[in-house]
Amino acid sequence: MELDPVCKMELTDIKKCDESIVDGKKYYFCSTFCRVLFENNTEYYLSKENKYGLTKQLKGVSH
Ligand SMILES: [Zn+2]
Repeated sequence: MELDPVCKMELTDIKKCDESIVDGKKYYFCSTFCRVLFENNTEYYLSKENKYGLTKQLKGVSH
């Protein structure tokens, strides 16, 4: 299962998805729209993507 780093959609069939390679890593997108957004803001989406697995931490965040 891959996640679209832009809209966070779960991509069940990546064969049909748009893809982009950044630093040798492949990313998949639900649509060309998401891919273009990603390619135009790669650093932004990649820094957000780092927080993907950290939902627990997000819940525990307090200011
Ligand atoms: Zn998308």
